[in-house]
Amino acid sequence: MSDKATSIVVAGSGPAGMIAALGFAKAGFDVTLAGPEPSRPDQRTTALMNPALALLDRLGVLAPIRPHAAPLRTMRIVDATKRLIRSPTVTFRASEIGEEQFGLNIPNAVLVQTLSEAVRSHAGIDWRPCMVSAWSLGSERATATLSDGSTISALLAVAADGRQSPAREAAGISVRKRPCPQSALVLNFSHRSNHGYVSTEFHTETGPFTQVPLPGGYRSSLVWVVTPKMAEELAALDEDALSALIEEKMQSMLGRVTAEPGRQVYPLSTLSAFRFAKNRVALVGEEPQWFPPIGPRG
Ligand SMILES: Cc1cc2nc3c(=O)[nH]c(=O)nc-3n(C[C@H](O)[C@H](O)[C@H](O)COP(=O)(O)OP(=O)(O)OC[C@H]3O[C@@H](n4cnc5c(N)ncnc54)[C@H](O)[C@@H]3O)c2cc1C
Repeated sequence: MSDKATSIVVAGSGPAGMIAALGFAKAGFDVTLAGPEPSRPDQRTTALMNPALALLDRLGVLAPIRPHAAPLRTMRIVDATKRLIRSPTVTFRASEIGEEQFGLNIPNAVLVQTLSEAVRSHAGIDWRPCMVSAWSLGSERATATLSDGSTISALLAVAADGRQSPAREAAGISVRKRPCPQSALVLNFSHRSNHGYVSTEFHTETGPFTQVPLPGGYRSSLVWVVTPKMAEELAALDEDALSALIEEKMQSMLGRVTAEPGRQVYPLSTLSAFRFAKNRVALVGEEPQWFPPIGPRG
């Protein structure tokens, strides 16, 4: 057990916490990052748009990610509801605005691994693989007590500790929360036809069904928003039945589909904080604002 004084303490070692730690360390601040080492395998991918990629580039982590990510060159929105009069399909091409791509679709496992390696090798970041178990917030300093009993006192606490955010609660920042009657089924699938780096989002009565390209042309990730009951039923289907349903929803645009193993279901909700900083705590990442992922929003 030890007590430490530093400039910045970052709570939470998800993508937002690691990016915040790298950003502050690069700006010359002493940073302590408190949060567990990544463990749970994550099948999801994160589509990040060009401005977010520019930040990763400035932090020196984009180059090792790029070979594992797929460029998003075209985004197509299809009204797949059963309404009598449907909206026309809309297609956005990055080339129309002079860009090669809107962003990259990055496997979460690659993003998190690359960020953790960068954090570990940065001399300005002290990573404590512990949870923050209590906060004491004064007018001059914020003090985090870690689960190993040590304390970190800092001028600024960065709350990157996810949707429940104990740091946000300790700071007394209130939020507006609304549960959604929706869950997202997430999986990857392979397909017979080349995706050509096109992401297609079908708007349906239960929510968006979004295909996002993966590297190599013949694999994509899927975020399928349905009712919680439907998500569980879909996740329990055998490979052939699920593959056939995905192909039908995709209107066979990518030919024969094969769903890959590894299905995850995420209940969706919306959350927005009334302010982003208070009592020496600043909110970043998931917890100032959380809403259902509607395709690649970056
Ligand atoms: C199905 C789905 C698809 C998505 N697609 C996209 C997309 O295409 N593009 C996009 O930009 N976003 C997407 N998102 C959203 C994106 O995944 C999240 O916004 C992002 O993962 C949030 O990262 P974070 O670091 O803020 O939070 P998290 O990843 O939740 O990390 C929080 C961290 O804080 C730690 N923690 C919690 N409590 C404490 C504590 N007391 N002390 C220390 N550490 C603590 C946790 O262990 C965890 O490591 C998607 C989300 C879902 C569900």
